[in-house]
Order: sequence, then structure tokens, then C-alpha cells
Amino acid sequence: PERGETVLVVDQAVRRFGGLVAVDKVSFELKAGEILGLIGPNGAGKSTMFNLLTGALRASSGRIAFLGQDITRMPQRRIAALGVARTFQHVKLRPAMTLVENVMLGAHLRTGAGWLSGGLRLDRSEEARARADAYAQLARVGLADKAEDLAGNLPLGQQRILEVARALAADPVMIVLDEPAAGLRRKEKEALAALLSDLRREGLAILVVEHDMDFVMGLVDRLVVMVFGARIAEGEPAAIRRNPDVQAAYLGG
Ligand code: ADP
Ligand code: MG
Repeated sequence: PERGETVLVVDQAVRRFGGLVAVDKVSFELKAGEILGLIGPNGAGKSTMFNLLTGALRASSGRIAFLGQDITRMPQRRIAALGVARTFQHVKLRPAMTLVENVMLGAHLRTGAGWLSGGLRLDRSEEARARADAYAQLARVGLADKAEDLAGNLPLGQQRILEVARALAADPVMIVLDEPAAGLRRKEKEALAALLSDLRREGLAILVVEHDMDFVMGLVDRLVVMVFGARIAEGEPAAIRRNPDVQAAYLGG
């Protein structure tokens, strides 16, 4: 998609768990070349919304469209194949594998080749190409010099960046990140923010679900604020900061 083109449309999404409405008629859009932040106090429904986008959970009602296709009831694998990549709140790397191997694992998500899960062997030229692609992703995020190190030996900040590289290996249109700044030191947050800004410039659509207000405020173009499942505000960081409903939600929560 062209920069500025809308890639994601969430229209009145609802998700119930029994009697609890975790996501209550939430709507928003995301464009290519934009970073959108999704914030809110604990229990607001952010992770549930995130899971609706990736297909990990189904919406109870409402509609989610990606690149003009209705993905509301699509299985996770097909949503990934359309170009949605994610990172996890708790790092899910293979610590005993090298960085380059971890990135190679990410590549098969988009293509659905299944050569790892299915136990199929790559032939030599395929393997060489997959490895070269993985090196390119590591170079893109500034980790090429550690390509053959074990992922488990990286500091947390670089593990998060490696997770982004793994997501990029699937050649996504949109990347969604669940609390990427959690537990990071200030310098590590700055490095991650710089990387996400670079990816925005390259035209990726980026959704960041975050708890860390300082991190998102300095990074995103726009924010959606959720409280008790509902979207209570949407706007640019400066306006959100001044919004009395948002201030009340954060002081009250
Ligand atoms: P956040 O990520 O903003 O902290 P969540 O989306 O995790 O919020 O949770 C929103 C609400 O939905 C909370 O009240 C939570 O207890 C509830 N919830 C989340 N997942 C489930 C589930 N699988 N079953 C029942 N309730 C859930
Ligand atoms: Mg959460």
C-alpha cells in the first residue's frame, strides 16, 4: 500500500467474556506510514483488542478489515499471510538458537511454507536465501554484528529489537507490538523508538499497545485511549495529554 493509505479499519468491535465486555464498540483506523498508540489502564481491554487484530481471539460483533478484506473471522495464520506481524509482551525468542536462526523462524509465517513446523528440509539454495534474508533483516535493525550469537545472551532491549526483526522477516504491511517498552532501560527504549520511527518512514503501519506513557507520547502520531473496554478518546499526543477524561482515567486508575 501507498504511504497514507488506510490499511486497517476497526468498526465497532466488541468482545465479551461471559458477562464482561472487554472491548466495547471500539473503532479506529490505521494508515501505512503511521504509528498508532493504544493505551489505557490495566484491564482496559488493550490486549483483547490486540488479539482481535491478529486473530488470536474472535470478535463477538463488529468488523475488522485489513487491506479491504474482512478479517473478523479469519484464522490467525491467514491474517499473518495477508501481512500482519506481531511481537509478544513476553519475549518469545528461542534463547538457544542464534539471532539469524530466530529471524529465519519468522520468515515462514508470511509464506506459510511450514518447512520448520512440518519438518520439511530446506534445500541448500533455499536455506542460503533464507539465511541471506535473515541477515538483511538483522542489518536493518542494527544487529548484524551479533547474527551468530545466541538470542538468550542478548540484553532485554536487544531481544525486543530481535523480535521486531523476526516480525519483519515475514515482510509485513502492519506490525503490532504488545508493550514493547516493558522492562527496558531508557537507552533501550530510545533505540527501540528510533527503530520504529525508521520503519514508519519506510511505510509500515505500526500499532503499539503500551502502558509506558512517556514511550508512546514521544513516538506515535495518534493515540486511542481505552478505559473499561470503551474508546474514551482519540487524537494526537499533545491533545490526549490535555484531555480531562484521559487525565481522570489515569489519576483514578
Ligand atoms: P489490558 O490489556 O488493557 O490490561 P485485557 O484485554 O487484558 O486488558 O483485559 C480486559 C478485561 O477482560 C479484563 O477485565 C480481563 O480480566 C478480561 N479478560 C481478558 N481476557 C479474558 C479471558 N480470556 N477470559 C475472561 N476474561 C478476560
Ligand atoms: Mg494487556
